[in-house]
Amino acid sequence: MTTVDAPVSHLRENPFEIAREQLRRVAKVFAIDPNLVNVLQECKKAVSVSIPVAMDDGTTQVFQGHRVTHNVARGPSKGGIRYHQDVTLDEVKSLAMWMTWKCALSGIPFGGAKGGVVCNPKTMSEGELQRMTRRFTSEIINEIGPEKDIPAPDVGTDGRVMAWIFDTYSMNKGHSVLGVVTGKPLTIGGSLGREEATARGALYCVREAVRKKQISLQGASAAVQGFGNVGSFLARFLAEDGANVIAISDSTAGLHNPKGIDVQAAFAHKRETGTLAGFRGAEAITNEELLLVDCDVLAPCALEQVITTDNAAQVKAKIVVEGANGPVTPSADEILEDKGILVLPDILANAGGVVVSYFEWVQGLQEYFWKEAEVNAKLNDIITRAFNETWSTMESRGVSMRLAAYGLAVRRVAEATTTRGIYP
Ligand code: NAD
Repeated sequence: MTTVDAPVSHLRENPFEIAREQLRRVAKVFAIDPNLVNVLQECKKAVSVSIPVAMDDGTTQVFQGHRVTHNVARGPSKGGIRYHQDVTLDEVKSLAMWMTWKCALSGIPFGGAKGGVVCNPKTMSEGELQRMTRRFTSEIINEIGPEKDIPAPDVGTDGRVMAWIFDTYSMNKGHSVLGVVTGKPLTIGGSLGREEATARGALYCVREAVRKKQISLQGASAAVQGFGNVGSFLARFLAEDGANVIAISDSTAGLHNPKGIDVQAAFAHKRETGTLAGFRGAEAITNEELLLVDCDVLAPCALEQVITTDNAAQVKAKIVVEGANGPVTPSADEILEDKGILVLPDILANAGGVVVSYFEWVQGLQEYFWKEAEVNAKLNDIITRAFNETWSTMESRGVSMRLAAYGLAVRRVAEATTTRGIYP
């Protein structure tokens, strides 16, 4: 039996410390009661489990998994499950806290959670992944549930993994429980528009931002880092809106063509081969170089902390749209702000996923499913309203878009906590 070692974090700064520091900064500007900050800077519950899995080669490997609930003052907790070799408990805690703020900013009735398993899903067979997912679900079965904590996909997980979680939970309950997980395939109660929702939400934010900045998206240049769920759909949507997507990348390859990349063809290539490597029609570029290309819109849609004090001064984009969670470190944020770059913060820019997850949960509870146009229109309403509330707060308080978004969100959670009172 082998145990998969817990990783030493790949991140330069402890993500949970960053999340707490952000909270303290916001609390100061928005005059949040320090007693409430003490409550909000902690996670309500963190469960770590070991997951023994019979591997295809006859060995047994033991993986480490975490499920963290940050806060439930505004409703059951909601958040994705990540399968990645660099997952750490502190990373999961920070992502859980960000989920609390994201749900509050969008005004949907959820608190924040996140989960992760330390594994490399790319090197595992479908059978191994399924056995690991079902055992992980069994280990956290008392933590999750439609009124309690509702997982969803994140990096390294997808509809297939959500289907196994749904099935394992339902088998244990003795009946199908549609609301236990979102991001499910359509055949078993998924929502139309969920797969593209995060990117669509980011697109709606970009549309509002260019309008405010009086730039036309038609012909604007865009660079997108990460060509997974969020990045690939965002690149496609930006191109469909008339933007010139000049750089894209995934973990295996980066591509740059100042005249524009055929995003549809790149999308098809990635779907067919699982990688951007081997796609023609552009020069090779590294992921570091992609962040520094001359463009109007830069969308980091891969992992955290890619824009740091080392490279922030060289970013040339006018607008940075955070498709990923936490791609800009707080110190880098200040540099971008000084340069006059508008950063559309993660809790606003990538909230589309959790908003349509909310719609999927509602549809599952009602067992009544909506048309895609209805999903997209309702998503547009929520994201555009959240964008405009954030924009007005930014203007009225004279703060950055990020501080405005966090301020609005933290205030809402603080208010809910005060209204409910601290138990007992
Ligand atoms: P994904 O696994 O579908 O895609 C991740 C992409 O990033 C892949 O193309 C991968 O090759 C690429 N990548 C990995 N390491 C990289 C590196 N070092 N440099 C460049 N590219 C790299 O994941 P996703 O669901 O698209 O999530 C991406 C980000 O968006 C994460 O931060 C996630 O937390 C955030 N997010 C996702 C959703 C969602 O609904 N999927 C919602 C909100 C936020």
